[in-house]
Amino acid sequence: MSLEKANAIVIRQADFSESSRVITFFSREFGRFSALAKGAKRLKGPFDAALDLLSEGRIVFIRRPAGVLNLLTEARLTTRFQPQQPGVSDGLLRMYAGCYVAELLNGLTEDFDAAPEIFDLATALLQGLSTPECHVSALIIHFEMSLLQLIGLLPDLSNCSVCGGSIEPSGRYVHWVSQGGLLCQDCRKEEYSGTSVSAGAVEILRRLTGGTTDLAGRVRLTPAQAEECHRLAVSAISHVLGRRPQTLRYLQFSSHH
Ligand SMILES: [Zn+2]
Repeated sequence: MSLEKANAIVIRQADFSESSRVITFFSREFGRFSALAKGAKRLKGPFDAALDLLSEGRIVFIRRPAGVLNLLTEARLTTRFQPQQPGVSDGLLRMYAGCYVAELLNGLTEDFDAAPEIFDLATALLQGLSTPECHVSALIIHFEMSLLQLIGLLPDLSNCSVCGGSIEPSGRYVHWVSQGGLLCQDCRKEEYSGTSVSAGAVEILRRLTGGTTDLAGRVRLTPAQAEECHRLAVSAISHVLGRRPQTLRYLQFSSHH
């Protein structure tokens, strides 16, 4: 049992008792973990807005052996997630995008597996969603692809998975989800299930993978481009998760941007 400090984002809240909640955090120091927050449901609770979904804060907790709930002792808000601002027409979409970020962090990472790059990506993304000049569709595709890269499951977007031929600007390809790569027309076979993707979309996906979130958020995509790129990213993510992310049903950005 030890007292630990962390910078963390709230990615999930679950009721535990009349007055307490179990909060799942994604922290820079420890990756994902959950802790019991006693009194968190009281109106004037000890933690206040620091435990709102997607709030970022400085927290202190008692770390317990695996299988025993950790205990939150302090939480101080440092950054509130505020995507809905005056003059921002797609604030609700930005809020849902934040929920999607939280779901992916929860689903694609392991407890106490520190990944500071993923924490930095997530905080930059939440900040981007709170910046009206940043486009939601480009931000989300950047997050999906960069997260896949950081967990080592990014599809190979440079060469055909079978013949190794490079991706030509005019070609059409198939996303071979189970093999984490692309297939050219020559290698395409009926038994390889996958969706068609244009070389243009592959190029956009490569540009939005890694790099800074601020730059990615300035990329303006047409609705068709956003949809095609997002579809490939979601296929790859759903394959890793073993299901389609639940919050996706609220995230129909192709009709907004
Ligand atoms: Zn090929």
